[in-house]
Amino acid sequence: MASLMKARTIVAGNWKMHTDLDEARKLMEALAGWSKAGRSDVQMIVAPPYPFLATAVDRASASAGTGRNSSIIIAAQNCHEEEQGAFTGEVSVRMLKSLGVDACIVGHSERRQYYGETDTIVGRKVALLLKHGLQPIYCCGERREEREDGRYRDVVSAQLHEALGALTPGEVAKVIVAYEPVWAIGTGLTATPEQAQEVHGFIRGELRLLAGEAASAIPILYGGSCKPENAAGIFAGSDINGGLIGGAALVADSFIELMRIAQQVKSSS
Ligand code: PEP
Repeated sequence: MASLMKARTIVAGNWKMHTDLDEARKLMEALAGWSKAGRSDVQMIVAPPYPFLATAVDRASASAGTGRNSSIIIAAQNCHEEEQGAFTGEVSVRMLKSLGVDACIVGHSERRQYYGETDTIVGRKVALLLKHGLQPIYCCGERREEREDGRYRDVVSAQLHEALGALTPGEVAKVIVAYEPVWAIGTGLTATPEQAQEVHGFIRGELRLLAGEAASAIPILYGGSCKPENAAGIFAGSDINGGLIGGAALVADSFIELMRIAQQVKSSS
C-alpha cells in the first residue's frame, strides 16, 4: 500500500567558504526579501559560513512573514562531534543552538575528503544535533571511480547504515538526507534525472530499513552542480524532494529561481 506520508520540498544553499560580511548581508537581504512575501510552500534553508550565522539568523527572524513558508531556516555547514572541550578552532552544537541556528549540514564530501571525516564521526554529529533539537542534513554520495565501477549503491548504503544505524527509527525520521555524487559537486557535471532518481529511490529503500514507513516523509535532496538550467528535470524525480545547492546558491537570483522551479515541479506532480 502506498504511504500517505510525503516528504516536504526543500531548497538548501551551502555557501561554503565564500562571501565576506558585506556580501553575506546582501545575499541574505535578497533572500529574506523574497521569502517574506510567502510565495512558496518550498522550505528555504541557508547555510552561511560560521562568522555570518548570527547576522543570518537576525535577518531571517526579522523578515519572517505570515505567508506560506516565509521563514528561512539557517543552517551551519559543520559542527564538532563532542559536546565541548579543548578543540581549538572548532564549533559546538550548543554554540550553534545558542545563536538560534536550527540546522546543520554534516558529512559533506569536502569534509570527508579534506578533513578525514568518517561515517562514525558523522554519525556522532547527527546524534548530537538531534539531542540538542537541531535538524541534521546528512550528506552521502559516491566518488567518480565508485560510480564508474558500479559500486555506488554499496557505497551509499554503507554510508547510511554506518552514520545512521545506531539511531532509533524515530531519530532517523528526523534527518534530512542529501545525495551528492562527489563527481558532480562543483564540477559542472550533473547526474541525469534518471541517475539521480535511481539512487534516491534506492536511498528511500535503505531509509525504510532504518526508519520504517516514516522513511516516506524523509526529505532526500539532490546536490551536485544543480542550477536553474537543469533543476526541473532533477526535481521531478518522485524520490527527489529538492536540492542542496553550492555554486548557484551564491547568486540570489539563481537561488530564488531554484525555489520557484521546485515549487512549480512539486505542485504539478
Ligand atoms: C555542494 O557542495 O553541496 C554542492 C552541491 O555544490 P555545487 O552545487 O556547486 O556542485
